[in-house]
Amino acid sequence: MSQKHLGHTARKRFGQNFLHDQYVIDKIVSAINPRTGENLVEIGPGLGALTEPVAEYIDHLTVVELDRDLAKRLRHHPFLNSKLTVIEQDALKFDFASLLESDESKEKGKLRIFGNLPYNISTPLMFHLFSFADKVKDMHFMLQNEVVKRLCATHGDKLYGRLSVMAQYYCQAIPVVAVPPSAFKPAPKVDSAVVRLIPHKTPPAPVDNIDTLQRVVTTAFNQRRKTIRNSLKDLLSHDEIEALGIKPELRAEALSLQDFALLANKVNASI
Ligand code: SAM
Repeated sequence: MSQKHLGHTARKRFGQNFLHDQYVIDKIVSAINPRTGENLVEIGPGLGALTEPVAEYIDHLTVVELDRDLAKRLRHHPFLNSKLTVIEQDALKFDFASLLESDESKEKGKLRIFGNLPYNISTPLMFHLFSFADKVKDMHFMLQNEVVKRLCATHGDKLYGRLSVMAQYYCQAIPVVAVPPSAFKPAPKVDSAVVRLIPHKTPPAPVDNIDTLQRVVTTAFNQRRKTIRNSLKDLLSHDEIEALGIKPELRAEALSLQDFALLANKVNASI
């Protein structure tokens, strides 16, 4: 059911749940700790619940908003417009590296990305953002609580999966605050949480080819009830897995990032 907030009818297809809880807004802004001269980027600014308080601390902010009406509203915002560069685009397709092309932006350093993200695209958006990890200083995102748990999960945890392994490869993930549905209008059906992601300067496990790591992790978790001996049988033999010091009868959920890196490097070496 659509619902009006600040004169705008929330669009479900754009995952629009607008934040209105001041306590939560303050928590997020203080977690971001924005400073003038930094390269701040917001994904999905919407009606400006985070944009306005963040902009108070800085002189410039880039926002990426897909909804044409909301992008237009922000361009005509009475006091934000002079500080904002509004990019009316799909964040899933946006080249975040392009924001670092000018000399002025290079001087500001790596990107600091934040947003209360549209939940319907949060997992593909995370993967898209990971591909720019070397251009990013940190990220602060409101997400479905379950997605935050997945991002922070390590092997053996119930929600450990593809997203957890790839998140660990690229970043340190730290939960910031849990957020109830009542903090939003309209209220989502699920609990939410804010996560801080800090890209590693050097990956915690050496990987020869990131595409191969993705392929091995995806293949192993697509058949997560199977042993890796079975799920990875088209990529590696039982003996090859064992020679790496990994038990072939384990399931994907029991393997650490370091194990996946060893498997991926072995696959890569035999391509
Ligand atoms: N930041 C606002 C707030 O906290 O109230 C709005 C958050 S709302 C959960 C998600 C926002 O992302 C909406 O403004 C929506 O239009 C925008 N959005 C949805 N899909 C998007 C996409 N693919 N690229 C960029 N923005 C998107």
